[in-house]
Amino acid sequence: MKPFAYQRVEAADSAVATVARSGAAFLAGGTNIVDLMKLGVTAPELLVDVTGLPLREIEALPDGGMRVGALTANSDLAADPVLRTRFPAVALALLSGASAQLRNRATIGGNLLQRTRCRYFVDVTKSCNKRRPGAGCAALNGEHRDLAVLGTGVGTAQQPQCIATNPSDLAVALALVDARVELLTADGAASMSVHEFFRLPGDRPERDTNLPPGALITAVVLPATPIARTSTYRKVRDRSSFAFAAGSVAAALDVRDGMVQDVRLAYGAVAHRPWRAYVAERTLRGKPATVDNFEQAADEELAAAKPLRDNAYKVPLIRNLTVGVLRGMTEASW
Ligand code: SF4
Repeated sequence: MKPFAYQRVEAADSAVATVARSGAAFLAGGTNIVDLMKLGVTAPELLVDVTGLPLREIEALPDGGMRVGALTANSDLAADPVLRTRFPAVALALLSGASAQLRNRATIGGNLLQRTRCRYFVDVTKSCNKRRPGAGCAALNGEHRDLAVLGTGVGTAQQPQCIATNPSDLAVALALVDARVELLTADGAASMSVHEFFRLPGDRPERDTNLPPGALITAVVLPATPIARTSTYRKVRDRSSFAFAAGSVAAALDVRDGMVQDVRLAYGAVAHRPWRAYVAERTLRGKPATVDNFEQAADEELAAAKPLRDNAYKVPLIRNLTVGVLRGMTEASW
């Protein structure tokens, strides 16, 4: 590991001002950035430790929403009784991620900034446009079983620059509930929706998010979302714990008299960002809550998928997961 400086800050504005210096990075739980530093993937000259900032509060908002400080531990939020009542999909997503030890250490803000686990990204001897723009993408013709099938640009005239997936379970559940990310930038406080926050790789694969340079995540706001009270999150992976998703589905469903009044769906491990399944949602609203309609909705959403040699299994996986989750939720509502 290359030598680096370390500084602990006690105020958010001084943290932001310090990181504005070139080469600096924030340090919170350290569960991803420290690994990447050991591997030589990233080499900040200065780590600014923000763990002393007062950003750990979990607030139950009177309108039914919640505001979660960015330094809240994943395990603390997952155990929060209000979260479990108002946003169970978020709690389930948190509990499906990593290990108990990592959930105790990792923070909500850091979770949103974790980097892809693409094996070529973390191997500095391999070509990777995300690590070194213009270097090429070794995954396209290499090991891409875990990588993206949606939003990649595969099949277009131009060769895609990156087919990495976003590794966060939490982000999928946040996309489901239209969460907002609160920030502190050098110009003051700001906020953006989680949909604006994450991005597809396009021709800037080195950028995982649209977070302004040097901005500090201060909180995540879950807006009041009555349909989220019966939401769920289901994750498929190669082993039953401490593994990233092969595919995941977050869902919220309101069925009355056998008809879909409202539905929300978000997919994980299929794209560079959490994938809100708007096409499937539009297809299902106002239709009978039947398996045939669930299948049709999933098929319409996944028609845009462009799998490569080894990740085509994700398309039927997500389809079957969508149908299974919605079917289970429908039967639970009887
Ligand atoms: Fe790098 Fe993205 Fe290609 Fe993986 S998929 S090697 S992260 S450019």
